[in-house]
Amino acid sequence: SLKAGIVGLPNVGKSTLFNAVVENGKAQAANFPFCTIEPNVGVVAVPDHRLHVLSDLSKSKRAVPASIEFVDIAGLVKGASQGEGLGNKFLSHIREVDSILQVVRCFEDNDIVHVNGKVDPKSDIDVINLELIFSDLDQIEKRLEKLKKSKVKDSHTKVKEESEKSALERVQEALVDGKPARSVPLKDFEKDAIKHLCLLTMKPIIYVANVAESDLAVPESNTYVKEVMNLASELQSGLVTISAQVESELTELPSDERTEYLKSLGVDESGLGNLIRETYSLLGLQTYFTSGEKETKAWTILAGMTAPQAAGVIHSDFEKGFIRAETVAYNDFVAAGSLAAAREKGLLRSEGKDYVVQEGDVMLFRFNV
Ligand code: GDP
Repeated sequence: SLKAGIVGLPNVGKSTLFNAVVENGKAQAANFPFCTIEPNVGVVAVPDHRLHVLSDLSKSKRAVPASIEFVDIAGLVKGASQGEGLGNKFLSHIREVDSILQVVRCFEDNDIVHVNGKVDPKSDIDVINLELIFSDLDQIEKRLEKLKKSKVKDSHTKVKEESEKSALERVQEALVDGKPARSVPLKDFEKDAIKHLCLLTMKPIIYVANVAESDLAVPESNTYVKEVMNLASELQSGLVTISAQVESELTELPSDERTEYLKSLGVDESGLGNLIRETYSLLGLQTYFTSGEKETKAWTILAGMTAPQAAGVIHSDFEKGFIRAETVAYNDFVAAGSLAAAREKGLLRSEGKDYVVQEGDVMLFRFNV
C-alpha cells in the first residue's frame, strides 16, 4: 500500500500523532485484516462510506478498505545529511516513502522545549528542507561523477545517460538555489531517467500543522498556521491542520463519545481523515471497487490509469491477460441495487484496454490465465 513518512524536528508531536495512528489502526483491526508490521509502521484504513454501501448491496462477507502505511521516521535534526543524529539511516528511510508528512509545531507550551528555543514554523520547515536538499545534492554529485566516468558504447544507453546527466544538472542548479527537485520542469523521459535516485525533494510534502485543541475550529486565527499556509502554497505542498493531542485523546474514547468530543471542539471529524484525503489528492490518487459475495474491496490507483493497469494493482496476471472490464459507475450500481440489476438495465459497460478508469468505478475483470 501507499507509504507516508512522518518527519519533523524533535518535540513537535510526531510520536503523539504516530501513536494515535497506530491505536486507530488497532481499533480497526477488529473489523479489518490489519496488523502493525514493524514498530515504526502503522497501517490505517482509508475511510470511504461507499465501501459499506456496496458491501451491503452485494451482501459481501467482508469489506476491505484501501490502506495507507504511516512510517515514523524519527531522528531528523539539523546536520542529519552530515551524519548527525541517526543521520543517513534516517534519510534512507525517507527514500522509500511515496510522500512526506512534516509535522510542524504550531502550539505554544512553555513546558515543552522547542529545539531552537521558540516556536518558529518557517525556520523548522527551512531546517528540514535544507537537510533534504543537502542529501539530494550529495546523491547527484556522486551520480554525475559516475556518469562522467561511464564508458558505455551502445548508443541507446548513451542517449539515456545523456538525458539523465542533463536532467541532473538542472536539478542540481535548483537545489544549490535552495529549491526542491520537484520545482524543476522535467519531461517524462527525464523523470524516468533520474527516478532510480529516489531524490527526497522530488517527493510531495504535506505540512501537518500541529495546533492546540482550542485552535482546531478556526486554525487561520493562529498566526503560526497562517505562516505554514503561506509557505505550503509557495512550495506547492499540501497542508493539514491537526491536533496530535486530540487525535491521541480520541483513541482512548469509546467510538460513540468521539463525535461528541469533536463537536465540543467545533469540528466534524478527526484530523486523520483529512490527512488521508489530502494525501490522496496531492498524490493524484483515486479509488475503484470490486464487489461480490466474497468481498467488496477498495483499490487505490493513480488518476489516469487504464483498465489493464488498474487490474494490475490486484495482480500482475490480471494486467498481462486482460481481456475486458465490466464496469459500472458507483451511482449507477447503487441506483440499480446490484451488479445483476445494473446489467439488466444496460448500465454495465464492457470496457477495453484503453478505458481510463473513473473515480468510484465498480469493476469486474475478464482475463486469460
Ligand atoms: P516528537 O519528538 O516530535 O515525537 O514529539 P512528541 O510527540 O513526543 O511530543 C513532544 C511533547 O509535546 C509531548 O510531551 C507531547 O505530549 C506534547 N505535545 C504533542 N502535541 C501537542 C499538542 O498539540 N499540544 C500540546 N500542548 N502538547 C503537545
